[in-house]
Amino acid sequence: MSRRDVVRSLPPYKQGAAEGPDAVKLSSNENPYPPLPSVVAEIERRLGSYNRYPSMGAVEVRTAIAERFGVTPDQVAVGAGSVEVATQLVHATAGLGDEVIFAWRSFEAYPIITVVGGATPVKVPLRPDLHHDLDAMAAAITDRTRLILLCTPNNPTGTTLHTDEVEAFLARVPDDVIVAIDEAYVHFNRDADSVSGLDMLARHPNVVNLQTFSKAYGLAGLRIGFSISSAEIAEDLRRVATPFAVSDLAQHAALASLAHEDELDVRVERIVAERERVTAGLRSQGWPVGDSQANFVWLSTGDDTARIDNVLRSHGVFARCWQPEGIRLSIGSQQENDRCLEAFADAVR
Ligand code: PMP
Repeated sequence: MSRRDVVRSLPPYKQGAAEGPDAVKLSSNENPYPPLPSVVAEIERRLGSYNRYPSMGAVEVRTAIAERFGVTPDQVAVGAGSVEVATQLVHATAGLGDEVIFAWRSFEAYPIITVVGGATPVKVPLRPDLHHDLDAMAAAITDRTRLILLCTPNNPTGTTLHTDEVEAFLARVPDDVIVAIDEAYVHFNRDADSVSGLDMLARHPNVVNLQTFSKAYGLAGLRIGFSISSAEIAEDLRRVATPFAVSDLAQHAALASLAHEDELDVRVERIVAERERVTAGLRSQGWPVGDSQANFVWLSTGDDTARIDNVLRSHGVFARCWQPEGIRLSIGSQQENDRCLEAFADAVR
């Protein structure tokens, strides 16, 4: 197959849709709250210098991220969202004929960025309990494996990976294979046994921790994410990065968000409390809802998925549905979640 045929065979990345004036958009795992007033003020203060390129090295924001996480700025790489940093990782590690392993189902961008990078995706099915099958992922490693993507909490199932199982997994991964731990939803995670990519990095130099300002920090529309890794890997990521991809506005909004994390934490706690309320509400209606540690929940609705999706849409509620697997429902504001619970109640057979 030529490269163009490969590109044409890609499933399009579906943006979670929402139509109608009162639409409740719970399809993209966004934060229901706008950026903090102090962050908006900083953005407004920066408006206007668009004739200039942003700082390509993003030194100020990399320094602030490094201080926040107790690493050095040369260990930090940034991108236009963590999806761009994940793309940098593919470009820096894997070429034609190389393999990238990830669980499936997981973040839908993984196969796209792998194939566009010329490499071959190796999708390892989740276990029946919707956790990563780390044994099967270790068994899938070949001498062509260059990169392994672990996602915790996993999008779309909300399941987490624990420190002991990831330690055991890493012991089976050759040192020259990079293991990215994608923690886009880390702020919503209340599972104390969960792995921390940063802790792993201290013992395993082949680990890369991926994070984003899109979720807990509420900056999805501005596009900025980052990685923390060895300085050597971070330097490679900066080499392959699209020049000037992270705008000045995004860099300064990220800086202002880091300066006001305590205020953002209050919002995160509200979202976590709403996640528990929505989970309990859906379960009391009889729906098969998994335990989620993210800002969304997963319902294993199987063959019934498309029917339920239609009922939700008729109520103006938009979730992400994968017929015949299930439904991923983002946690919105209290009012949005109430509308959503009403819509689900109507979908009960
Ligand atoms: N990783 C995971 C697991 C995600 O679900 C997402 C967003 N849906 C991202 C990374 C990318 O987010 P962003 O590019 O907005 O940082």
